[in-house]
Amino acid sequence: MTTNTKYIFVTGGVSSSLGKGIIAASLAKLLQAQGYRTTIQKLDPYINVDPGTLNPYEHGECYVTDDGAETDLDLGHYERFLNVPTSQSNNVTTGRIYQSVIEKERRGEFLGKTVQVIPHITDEIKERIQILGKSGDYDIVITEIGGTVGDIESLPYIEAVRQLRWDLGQDNAIVIHLTLIPFLSAAGELKTKPTQHSVKTLMESGVQADILVCRTEHELPEDLRRKLALFCNVREEAVIQSIDASTIYDVPNLMLEQGLDKVVLKKLNLESDTPDLTQWNQFLNRHKNPKGEVTIGLIGKYVELQDSYKSILEAFIHAGAENEVKVNVESVHSEFLTPKNAAGKLQHLDGVLVAPGFGERGIEGKIEAVRYVREHNIPFLGICLGMQMAVIEYSRNVLGLKDANSTEMDEHTQYPVIDLMESQKDITDKGGTMRLGAWDCELINGSIVQQVYGSNAVKERHRHRYEFNNAFKTQIEDAGMKATGFNPETGLVEIVEIPSHSWFVGVQYHPEYKSTVANPHPLFVAFVKAALNFKKDEKSVSMTQK
Ligand code: GLN
Repeated sequence: MTTNTKYIFVTGGVSSSLGKGIIAASLAKLLQAQGYRTTIQKLDPYINVDPGTLNPYEHGECYVTDDGAETDLDLGHYERFLNVPTSQSNNVTTGRIYQSVIEKERRGEFLGKTVQVIPHITDEIKERIQILGKSGDYDIVITEIGGTVGDIESLPYIEAVRQLRWDLGQDNAIVIHLTLIPFLSAAGELKTKPTQHSVKTLMESGVQADILVCRTEHELPEDLRRKLALFCNVREEAVIQSIDASTIYDVPNLMLEQGLDKVVLKKLNLESDTPDLTQWNQFLNRHKNPKGEVTIGLIGKYVELQDSYKSILEAFIHAGAENEVKVNVESVHSEFLTPKNAAGKLQHLDGVLVAPGFGERGIEGKIEAVRYVREHNIPFLGICLGMQMAVIEYSRNVLGLKDANSTEMDEHTQYPVIDLMESQKDITDKGGTMRLGAWDCELINGSIVQQVYGSNAVKERHRHRYEFNNAFKTQIEDAGMKATGFNPETGLVEIVEIPSHSWFVGVQYHPEYKSTVANPHPLFVAFVKAALNFKKDEKSVSMTQK
């Protein structure tokens, strides 16, 4: 099948963590805002089939798509910037590539042939890159290649890019190389040599970068741009400065000022226009000019690494802008939260979010946090494990079921108020076997969530094995905690609320994955609003007491 889809590859050089994902997402935003249907794909060179089995300390948050892919957190940025859902095809790993090639070999598809990196692995990579283009849904596919040029793991990907440029033609497939221009304070100078070397390394694999995006702490002077163009074989207009920004949401405008979209479209022989960023800039304006602030506690066990809760932190930025307030997120390590120090750590907060998670570490601290906020009427949002902890806390401290627990933490608990889902009982493999992706949820009339969503039926993304145990439902509801959202087919409880509390909602799913700049998630928006109201009420109470 022929296609007119254009391909843009984004490679990285000199150092990791330069923000290829943000550059890719920002460029995509500019192209989308000119009417081009754009998507972004991430190729990850590690051997895990997907990041679902990786500890967040290794790789940050695991993001989940509607169709149930467990993916790199960059896909979250793509969705947040573009407001277009990604899918299984948007994240490919070396593990997945090899798995697929080996399965083909076992089926006899290469019968008689020696299976090799070139052409079999590279063909598989090329096929995966073109799946999105061939779908007919996109004019432009941006493919971000994880890792840094020169890594052993990235070589087959770079080779696939080289071949694709030949297959498709140079004006249908271009390469953007993101590099670092370090500033040597002793010399007081920006240095181009690492970039020259990195471009050269790329050329050793037969790939000439078309555009350089240069991460820098200081403005790149004209002469330096000229030097980079000369030594790296690119046009001067194709040397793009990417200066450190105070927020990732500034990057599309910074790239626009630098003309990245124009150079890209010129190289691809496509027309360029002025991107319409009206809605984006309205969001930025609200984000940068808050009229107030709230402080929300984030109770989790991976709080040392901010990337572990990336989507939650971004969802607060969207919800803050929507409410025209700044949301200060205060991380509280659940492992060190105890009945003794809970008040000290939580009493000043305007709202508390108990985070998702797996395993036993830190859960008693999460339960303690729920107890404190429930007893002190502080707005609460529990996500996945956070919702499960809310059910356990209520069972223990309100129903008096003393050792109530999840069978994930205590297999022999007398009161398994959270239990392994029926569909999980025969599963032994750990990879890709959780209840994943978007599932229907029906909301009860008169509930907080029904009001928040303005609907009786929603679809939200899941990633879990354990679930509210319906055997305890009547008992829990009679005591005052209500189940307000269900899966229509299985009857699984997806949401719990406490109507007598100021704002108490626990959800089995992950609303954070669906929050975008264009569509801040209604639950986060309502939670921030509840925190704001709580703060105001608290203030008026203390004023009248004076
Ligand atoms: N560990 C819990 C489960 O598997 C919660 C998972 C989560 O928070 N994502 O059900």
